[in-house]
This record gives sequence, C-alpha cells and structure tokens, in this order.
Amino acid sequence: MPFGRMIRLPRTLSFRLTLWYGIVFSLLSCLAFLFFYVLITTNLKQRLDSRLSDKISEFEAIYNLHGLEDVKAAALIESQAAGEKKIFFRLLYAGGVAFSSSNMSYWREIGINRNAVGRLVEGRSRVYETLTLPGRPDRVRIVYGIIGRGVVAQFGYSMENDTAFVSIFKKIFLIAMSALILTAILVGWFMARRALSGVEAVTRTARQISESDLSRRVPIMARHEEIDRLAVTFNQMLDRIEKLVSEIREMGDNIAHDLKSPLTRIRGMAEISIGSEPGDGDDLTLAGGTIEECDRLLDMINTMLIISKTDAGAGEIAMAPVNLADVIRGAVALFAPLAEDKGLYLSCETPENLMVRGDLKMLQRAMANLVDNAIKYTPATGNIDIRAFRDMKVTERINISIKDSGDGIDTEDLSKIFNRFFRCDQSRATDGSGLGLSLARAVARAHGGEINVESTPGKGSTFTLYLPPMKIS
Ligand code: ADP
Repeated sequence: MPFGRMIRLPRTLSFRLTLWYGIVFSLLSCLAFLFFYVLITTNLKQRLDSRLSDKISEFEAIYNLHGLEDVKAAALIESQAAGEKKIFFRLLYAGGVAFSSSNMSYWREIGINRNAVGRLVEGRSRVYETLTLPGRPDRVRIVYGIIGRGVVAQFGYSMENDTAFVSIFKKIFLIAMSALILTAILVGWFMARRALSGVEAVTRTARQISESDLSRRVPIMARHEEIDRLAVTFNQMLDRIEKLVSEIREMGDNIAHDLKSPLTRIRGMAEISIGSEPGDGDDLTLAGGTIEECDRLLDMINTMLIISKTDAGAGEIAMAPVNLADVIRGAVALFAPLAEDKGLYLSCETPENLMVRGDLKMLQRAMANLVDNAIKYTPATGNIDIRAFRDMKVTERINISIKDSGDGIDTEDLSKIFNRFFRCDQSRATDGSGLGLSLARAVARAHGGEINVESTPGKGSTFTLYLPPMKIS
C-alpha cells in the first residue's frame, strides 16, 4: 500500500467501522469471559467447600462412634493416601491449641486462626479461609469445624488442581479470543469494504468525471438499497449537469455566432472608411451604420444582463399595481402598424381590468417580445389573436395567449426556444438576437408566473403567459 494511503487509512470510514466492530466485539467477548470465569471459580470453590465440610462431618461421625483416637488414625490415613503435600489436618482444643496433626513439614507456615476457632465456639458450624503461601503458586483452602465436645478439626486442601484448571481456562480463552478478534477484524474489514464499495464506485465515477468525461454514470448494482439510491440520485444529478453544460456550450456557440456578424460588419465599415477620401459623403453613412451595429450589440448585452439579474432575483423588479389589460392594449397599439404593413390581421380581446403586482416596464418588454415574434414569424395574410382572461380552473391566475398562424416551431426545438441565444434554423435569416423569449420567461418567473408554448409546424404557435393576479386585501 502506498505511504500516502496508509497515512489516510485511519481516517477512512472502513477503518473506523472495523475499529468499532473490533472494539465492541472484544468488549463483549471479555464480558462473556468474565461471566464464565466468575461462574467457574465460584462453582469450583463451592464444590471444594462442600468436600471439606463433608470431611469434617465424617470425622465428627467417627468421633461420636469410636472416639478421638480413631479420628486421629483416620485423618492420618487420609493425609497419607491423598499425599501430605495435598492435604493436612490438625486437631485442636476449643482454646485453639493443637494436640494432634498430620505431617506438617510442608505446611509449616500455616498457623491456627484463633479468630476462626472463636467463631466456631460462638456457634458457627464451619469457618473457611483461603491462604496464599509465600513462594508457592497455588493456594490453600482451610476449613474449621467442631467434631466433638471441645475438639475442633482444622482441615486444609491444596487448590493446586483448581488453579491449574483455571490457568488452562485462561490460556485457552486468550488463544481463542486472539483468533476470534483477528477473525472479527478481518470479517469487519471485509464487510465494511463490501458495504462501502458502492460509495467507492460513486467516488470513482466522480473522479473520472472531474477528469472530463461527463457521459460516465455510476453502475447500479441492485445490491445495497441505500447505495443504489445514492447512485441513482448521483446519476440524475449528472444528467442535469450534462444537459446544463451542453446548453451552456450551445449558448456559447450561439453568442459567438451572433457577435461575429455585427463585429464583421463594423470592421468592414471601418475598413471602407479608411480607404475612402476624407470628407466624401460616405463618412456619415459609415459612422451611422457603426453606431447602429454598436447599439444593437449594446442592446443585446443589456438584455443579457437584465435576464441574468431577473433570473437570479437580483434585478430591480418594482412591485407596483399594474393593469395588464393596459399593457396588452399598449403592445397591440404599438405593433398594429407593423402588422398592417405585413398584411396581418391582429385581433385582441381583453377585459377592462387585469390587475397584477409587478414591474410595468418589464411586463411591457415581455409582452412586446411575444407580439413582435408573432408578427415576425407569421407570413403575410396570417392572423394573430391575443386573448387575456382570468382563469379560475386550477388556481386563480391570469392567462394571456398570443396565437399566430405562422411558421410554427419544430418539435425538437420547442424545449430550446427559451434558452438564451437560441434561434431556430429557419429563423436565422430574420432579424433577432435569440434573447426575446428568455427575457419573457425570466420576467414571467420573476412575477411568480410562467410561460408555455404549443406549436404545430406550418400551422402556427400559441404562447401563453400565466401571471398571478393581484390580491385585493
Ligand atoms: P429572436 O426572435 O430574436 O430570434 P426569441 O428568443 O424571441 O429570439 O425567439 C427564439 C426563437 O424561437 C426564434 O428565433 C424563433 O425561431 C422561435 N420563435 C419565437 N416565437 C415564434 C413564433 N411565434 N413562431 C415561430 N417561431 C418562433
């Protein structure tokens, strides 16, 4: 693994998931071990205590049946049989003084616990203690019990076997635990990697895209619900970005194209003016032409700026009461001579009042663009029909439709005509900048409305502007 990746490893989600998994697993395993350890050691102690107690009872029975001498003999035999390093016994008077014992050379350090004897005298039937002898690994469990009148037995048992058993248990547990934790870490790592492999695919695709291949998509595995949802959302986002980028590219092409013609014309006029004799009559015409072209360019740039501002909500939209009926009638009056010149029949039907809150100038521009287009793209003897009314069907809104019997728009162009600088191919011969409809839509949206188009190529188009009416409080 490269050094850089190794440094970053502790910060990765896979590593952290594995770490958590390992920690939780180890903690739970240790808890389980502790539980078994306590269970086993308690059980061993209980069994040993019950064996020691039985032994005392046995001596008590011998004492009652046969007397003290038989107890001594039985205890001696017992200690020799089991091994003098394994068990020992002492017989004591109730005052705590020993009067008989097994061979105590191995158990020399073990004394008599007078406190324990005292507790027996007070009425306890057995008193137990565990002693650790210095320098010896195992411990001794000792029981005190009264076996007859004034006679106490002290019986000791080496816990060597139990200690060995517990230490084997510990060893086995440690080995098993290490193997289990290692397996758990490997399984955890594998599971984390598997679960996050979908995220990696998304990351990989994102990286490839940032290296300029926008057409790539994250594969959908139909494996992890959440990751697949992330991939689908990511792909949808990519679709939108790709569309946006291609629109921007197209817009760039269109701008370049639209700027090229006026600039070429301006350059041409400048060239002619250099070549012509000073003071000849052409100077004024050329200067006028240059100004006209520059105005057209400036107008285009200004319109672009207005659209951008309106789209971003940063334009100065003056929200004042505006009677749309007046705006419509104004546009009709303005364009009627043009329509007449072209031999078009222009009709208009609108109620007296259609109040909205908005920017009068913006609304006038939007309306003028729509009527201007209808006239531009409708051949002579055609009809243009403008109608405005309050629509109460869905939500209350004002509908203004501009219907023409003109060229119509090709279906594949319909979704693009509102893009900045887009012009249908057949319209390129006509004067225009491709910004009129973008502005109209930006204005409609800035007023909380929308603009739609329906068109049949060769038959005509209908643009409908929807605007929310002014609320009268
Ligand atoms: P411009 O009219 O300056 O070219 P617009 O943004 O107003 O720009 O319109 C974009 C394009 O939509 C036009 O170039 C034209 O091809 C098409 N279009 C707009 N209005 C109509 C219409 N009423 N009939 C047919 N085509 C239209």
